[in-house]
Amino acid sequence: MSLLELHDVSVTYRGTAGDVPAVRGVSLGLEAGEALGVAGESGSGKSTLAMSLLRLLPRDARVSGRILLEGEDVLGMSWGRLRAVRWASASVVFQGAQHALNPVRRIGDQIAEPLLVHGAATRDGARRRTAELLEQVGLPAWRARGYPHELSGGQRQRVMIAMALACSPRLIVADEPTTALDVMIQAQVLTLIRSLVAEHGIGLMMISHDLSVLAATCDRLAIMYAGRVVESGPARQVFRDA
Ligand code: ADP
Ligand code: ADP
Repeated sequence: MSLLELHDVSVTYRGTAGDVPAVRGVSLGLEAGEALGVAGESGSGKSTLAMSLLRLLPRDARVSGRILLEGEDVLGMSWGRLRAVRWASASVVFQGAQHALNPVRRIGDQIAEPLLVHGAATRDGARRRTAELLEQVGLPAWRARGYPHELSGGQRQRVMIAMALACSPRLIVADEPTTALDVMIQAQVLTLIRSLVAEHGIGLMMISHDLSVLAATCDRLAIMYAGRVVESGPARQVFRDA
């Protein structure tokens, strides 16, 4: 069984000027321990595809096709089941951590949120796990008591990664996780993500408009254009053909 399978997935937004087909008939597969890169210019449907995997799309979006996460049909799941799957089976790391983090909540409380949602920890257990996660992403445990504005962009992105890892999901979807960062920090965050995949055998879907970022991280590549996957295969082969 594959970790993730997409069969003919399409997503349409209902815009003010009519329907916007953002993803059109995408089929993809991802195995545990594998890193798949999804490239494509801005507007090609990459973020929409990422959000569709856990049904995190805006309400006016229509999704069709089949999305199988560890063999289970995501589009057919009840809300209760979906809640159980989010964070625990798969997490999404969104771009621009400054928007994704709550500015008035302590960092530790935000990282612990998925743990508490899943009833996987007592308050003390969550606190210990949070310290462990911060350390794993290269931040000192005392940062848990602080707030997002005290952190640099790279550090905030690390917090988002810690949060995504909290419940030890088998799949991480990272949507432009390094775009807002300067080149040195970008390299550090990429090294971190890559080592997590290697050490924990999780599947990674990494989305970027920047091919060099994907080349450094991914085994396979899919290139999107106007909502479709127009090319896919081993990273080396896709680069040779490009
Ligand atoms: P990418 O991540 O590759 O930049 P997106 O998935 O963000 O692409 O966008 C794909 C298409 O869907 C674009 O044409 C974009 O304008 C449109 N789109 C994205 N979000 C919405 C939305 N909430 N409502 C209407 N159209 C949207
Ligand atoms: P709410 O405001 O109710 O938290 P959201 O749309 O932010 O609504 O999130 C809906 C659900 O999806 C929540 O249960 C949240 O924990 C989960 N969720 C949000 N973001 C992610 C993510 N990046 N990865 C996994 N699950 C997420």
